[in-house]
Amino acid sequence: MSDKDQQYGQQGPKLRDTLSGVPAYVPGKPARGTADGRAAFKLSSNENPYPPLPGVVEAAVAAAGSLNRYPDMGSSGLIAELAQRFGVPEEHIATGTGSVGVAQSLIQITAGPGDEVVYAWRSFEAYPIIVQINGATSVQVPLRADETHDLDAMLAAVTERTRLIIVCNPNNPTGAVVRRGELERFLDAVPADVLVVLDEAYGEFVRNGVGDAADEVPDGIELYRDRPNVCVLRTFSKAYGLAGLRVGFAVAHEPVARALRQTAVPFGVSQLAQDAAVASLRAEPELLERVQALVEERGRVVTALTEQGWTLPEAQANFVWLRLGERTMDFAAACAEAGVAVRPFAGEGVRITIGESEGNDLFLQTAERFRKEL
Ligand SMILES: *Cc1c(COP(=O)(O)O)cnc(C)c1O
Repeated sequence: MSDKDQQYGQQGPKLRDTLSGVPAYVPGKPARGTADGRAAFKLSSNENPYPPLPGVVEAAVAAAGSLNRYPDMGSSGLIAELAQRFGVPEEHIATGTGSVGVAQSLIQITAGPGDEVVYAWRSFEAYPIIVQINGATSVQVPLRADETHDLDAMLAAVTERTRLIIVCNPNNPTGAVVRRGELERFLDAVPADVLVVLDEAYGEFVRNGVGDAADEVPDGIELYRDRPNVCVLRTFSKAYGLAGLRVGFAVAHEPVARALRQTAVPFGVSQLAQDAAVASLRAEPELLERVQALVEERGRVVTALTEQGWTLPEAQANFVWLRLGERTMDFAAACAEAGVAVRPFAGEGVRITIGESEGNDLFLQTAERFRKEL
């Protein structure tokens, strides 16, 4: 900060107190080539390594011809397509600038100063930021030792001031899941006037085993149908590979969906994003084949890590989590040296996205070397 900036900072406009101490969102580091010129891989932001399908690019390019116009404010084409795809009424859908944009509206419509928002921790780093900028209070409930949500403790944390509960399933950054039996019991016990958000940003990567139904990871859109206080968040950023276009949506009963549409930034979702999202839904079989390839690659990475001697939580999203504690930053540095950008959470652990096989291999080699030094 220059002297002038500092001076103006002290004398300038009064900003809301709630902004002080808001944690910064840390974007995943970009891939940087190694000193000796080897390729680099970005496994730090849970992005889809596949570029968009040709048909999806075409739809976006066609929309670019009308950039002088505002987009369809109600995302009507996209909402019609989503309603059909998920078998829900159009009035139950609200779109936003990424599902983070919708999540921000969810806080706005439920919680302000004096209100509490309950969620697990560690979980998605956007949660504490969007809670605090709205002046509400975060109630963070520690994950269990196996990195899963402690739903009993979350229920116990509900007070008269609780307005919103977020369940991230699978959880970012640990990849662990909440299953049907425990989730239904939890939803049955939450007061009817508290909104529960099921953030399913990675839902397409979940693979259920052959256990009984209570052991399945449920589809939130089935759970919301007869529960007026449940809202499901989905995104086109991960499985559908459109992180750069910023489009996500919520499915919820009419009063909640309507409030979300009321608070959304007008024209926030560009026509490029809307049209590319529609094209993606129409190309879903092809996109889901790519998701399947990533799920198989995830299996290969988990097996290799286990053989190297690592213990890691169940990985149900497009990343793996290594709880490295104080070795976290050393591990991230070793990966960077090998040409792989990962996402460290200092003092806690490292999240590594499943990307191109070559990048995953480089990560595995680094993990193996590191393991031997532990
Ligand atoms: C990536 C992610 C999102 C989606 O973010 P967008 O704003 O849709 O790109 C939402 N929730 C979680 C937990 C995520 O990891």
